[in-house]
Amino acid sequence: MGGREKEFGENVLKGIAASPGVAMGKVCIHKDIFSHITVLPIEDQEIGNEIRRVQRAVEDIEEAIRNDQEMIRKKIGPKEAEIFSAHLSIIEDSHYLAEIFERIATQKIKAEAAVLLQIRKYEEVFSKVENPYLKDRILDIRDIGTRLLESLMGPLDFDCPFQEPVIIAGLELTAKDTLRLKKDRVWAFITEQGGKESHAAILARAMGIPAVLGMEGLLSRIEKGDFLIVDGNLGLIVVNPPEEMIQEYHQVQEKIKIRRENLHLLISSPAATLDGCPFKLMANIGNLLDLEYALRYQADGIGLFRTELPFIMGERFLSEEEQFDLYRTVVEKMNPKEVTIRTLDLGGDKFLKIPHPERNPFLGYRSTRFFLKEKSLLRSQLMAIMKASRYGKVKILFPMVCDMDEVRNLVILAKETERELRARGEDFQKDIPLGVMVEVPSLAILAHKLMKEVDFVSIGTNDLVQFTLAVDRDNDLVSHLYQPLHLSVLYLIRNVVDAGRAHGKSVSICGEMAGNPIFFPLLFGLGLREFSVSPMAILEVKEAAKKVSEKKACEVARKALDMDSPREIAQFLEASSLSERI
Ligand code: PEP
Ligand code: MG
Repeated sequence: MGGREKEFGENVLKGIAASPGVAMGKVCIHKDIFSHITVLPIEDQEIGNEIRRVQRAVEDIEEAIRNDQEMIRKKIGPKEAEIFSAHLSIIEDSHYLAEIFERIATQKIKAEAAVLLQIRKYEEVFSKVENPYLKDRILDIRDIGTRLLESLMGPLDFDCPFQEPVIIAGLELTAKDTLRLKKDRVWAFITEQGGKESHAAILARAMGIPAVLGMEGLLSRIEKGDFLIVDGNLGLIVVNPPEEMIQEYHQVQEKIKIRRENLHLLISSPAATLDGCPFKLMANIGNLLDLEYALRYQADGIGLFRTELPFIMGERFLSEEEQFDLYRTVVEKMNPKEVTIRTLDLGGDKFLKIPHPERNPFLGYRSTRFFLKEKSLLRSQLMAIMKASRYGKVKILFPMVCDMDEVRNLVILAKETERELRARGEDFQKDIPLGVMVEVPSLAILAHKLMKEVDFVSIGTNDLVQFTLAVDRDNDLVSHLYQPLHLSVLYLIRNVVDAGRAHGKSVSICGEMAGNPIFFPLLFGLGLREFSVSPMAILEVKEAAKKVSEKKACEVARKALDMDSPREIAQFLEASSLSERI
């Protein structure tokens, strides 16, 4: 396609190849609720009705906000529940509402348009404010505006008039947006923002849908109904391509299909290298859809169950009972294979609207840091996991840990929870293995100390790369600096593997690096024997393993660690990925 890119230059947009595969079809644009509103005029006699619609919507959302507030007060604490008081004070502000009513009456416009204009007015006012606290209040105003509009308009679907599956384009797609889309209605995702490790990208890969993200100016270059080629392998799209290019891509699709069929032949063969050295090849899952694929591709267990997605989708904390039902389903279906359940990793890119807005949420009051303060929430999740362990084999994994005191506190909390449950007469798996994610460099450096405190660790390279190199994993402006093959990252991985071996503790790797077949010889050569990858990557990793012997992998790792630049290592790995003959 290289030459073609120049030939049809104007119609080609380059982005980040976030999920492989090729798709062709019409495009639909996903917009936020504000962009669905047009300012429509109304007749005099409709004014009263429009005002009543707003009043009813206000009553609805007042009740919803109070319910949320009560739940958060009970589950987290009064401080966090306060955020909803700010929301209530906006909605109860007679001035705010009076202005909306006045707009309807004087400008003679529909309720939705009046709410939108009101939000825009506040945005303008707040954009001039210097005080950062006041500036952040615009988020509350927008939140309330969104709630009001959702109540007025009902749940919105994508504006998609086509019967056949489509390509979804957007400024960005959040994890929630991505999950809401039905897989059989979507050919591909394309966005202006977001990088290879964003949750939209990870979910696209999990769903087996091609995605090209981070295409600057995308939305000004396409219109609903345009025919697109999305090439998730090369990271580009072609807008309204000529017929001959469509034919060419049909052939590419055919090749991909044949390759998939060949890969499927590997499903039941065990994960092992060319010379028969076995390893564990597990799946990362975040929902029951992933679980289906993990089962279909016969994963050797679940190496990482990201539990936050159901909370994000539900926009609330699930009760212990709801969590138990979910974990039990996964554990039961995987039995007798192991399921490693990770406790909530909310914050950063996985957001539930609880904490106060932070300037640097990736480094802020999030994940385990938050749950070590709000222990009752963590305890309720641990109880749900422990109870689920009656139905199969479970391991508990704590994310975003960066210091030994945190590790010890987590172990104490888990043991206390275990005792409490037993005292209640519950029967469940004895001595559930407790482990932590190694995804912050501090813990990777202290790996030898860490191994004394835990039963196992899992290396989370997505965050380990982000924190080691100080590069936001979701920011396409710096995505070229996000280099998993950076020597510093490889040294950290080696340190953790060596520490695990010295202490007889299991070390797995569950970041996206583990699912890249080109990286397999390097990671295996570094000593890793447990991989947890997106279900869609299982067969590719299995295939890569069958091309390399243990001896050759060790040699690859040794040589790579002697090199200087990530580019040099990448080229070397590409060249080494050709089948070895023994
Ligand atoms: C990681 O950081 O590598 C990881 C597996 O966790 P997540 O992608 O959910 O942050
Ligand atoms: Mg992580």
